Amino acid sequence: MTLPTPPPDFHWTTEPWGPMLRCRALDGLAQHGFTSRQLRLRPGERAGDAWTEAAASVGCAVPRIGRVRQVHGAVVRVVRAGELDQPAPDADAAVTRDPGTAVAVVAADCVPVLLADPVTGAVAAVHAGWRGTAANIVGATVATLTREWGVDPASLVAAIGPSIGPCCYAVGPELRTAFAEAGHPPALTNRWFRDDDTRLVLDLWTANRDLLQQSGVKAEHIHVAALCTQTHREVFESFRADGDQAGRMAALIVAPARA
Ligand SMILES: [Zn+2]
Repeated sequence: MTLPTPPPDFHWTTEPWGPMLRCRALDGLAQHGFTSRQLRLRPGERAGDAWTEAAASVGCAVPRIGRVRQVHGAVVRVVRAGELDQPAPDADAAVTRDPGTAVAVVAADCVPVLLADPVTGAVAAVHAGWRGTAANIVGATVATLTREWGVDPASLVAAIGPSIGPCCYAVGPELRTAFAEAGHPPALTNRWFRDDDTRLVLDLWTANRDLLQQSGVKAEHIHVAALCTQTHREVFESFRADGDQAGRMAALIVAPARA
């Protein structure tokens, strides 16, 4: 298996279970990573050997990971170390600032986004499919970080992980309508939806990058892996490629110790 070459701000590491993608800009801030197909996480799974391996790759343990039950919405879970035994609520992002506590989301084509704040030590994991993107889940996440811990969006570092790319994400016109109805201005949606004569494509990478910037995250702090899960289906899980047979990939990040 040949691994696709990511942009220079990302790199692969070799884990006992297979390759993991990491963002260089996050490397110094928080243990984190995007798992690949070789880990074989099952949909809905919250523990088990694969999750134990994923946690170990970020220096963590499964009971320390705050999870959510992803429903393609814009609700953000605030994870506190003392509440990790609570059942995962319906939400599509999780944030924490308790050192050694992790947050994670899973995806197979949807966009996983990891955030870290070097000033406060807060971290976030976000799941943004088209519905979550239209609902601006990344904006809701940044707002939660600011509300909870006074995070200045200008200091946040963001990594947009492997997900379906504009090369493969042909969509119906009703998605464009949904984004317009969600209040996104044409100046933005015209960048996110592109008509190439034969089909309409949605660029979720640009959309989430733009929405992060709209929330105050600096352009130079947003890193896009730009690796398409369907194009590289031998490396990544892709729901579009494999349907119900698709597994899931985890995006995890651990809140660092504070000085
Ligand atoms: Zn593609």
